[in-house]
Amino acid sequence: MVEEHATREESRANAEKHYKGINRKWIKTDYKKKNAKKLFNKEKEEMKCSFCGNSHYDHEFTSLICGKEEKICDKCVKRFSEELSSNEIS
Ligand SMILES: [Zn+2]
Repeated sequence: MVEEHATREESRANAEKHYKGINRKWIKTDYKKKNAKKLFNKEKEEMKCSFCGNSHYDHEFTSLICGKEEKICDKCVKRFSEELSSNEIS
């Protein structure tokens, strides 16, 4: 799950809370805010379910199964499974 923070300091404090000592490994990069946003949007697009269109970054589902071309989230798998079950001839 991705957590969003208002500031870099808030993000660092949260990382330190979960991974004690991680802030010592913090490095300075040349990434500008615009480039970081572009990269984030690209990753967000790549983590999108091909069926419902939700992204993992929006916390809409917990797992995404990737095929060669398409991806499907756990919620869609459950929904399709229930639809198939209800259509079964008993
Ligand atoms: Zn989905």
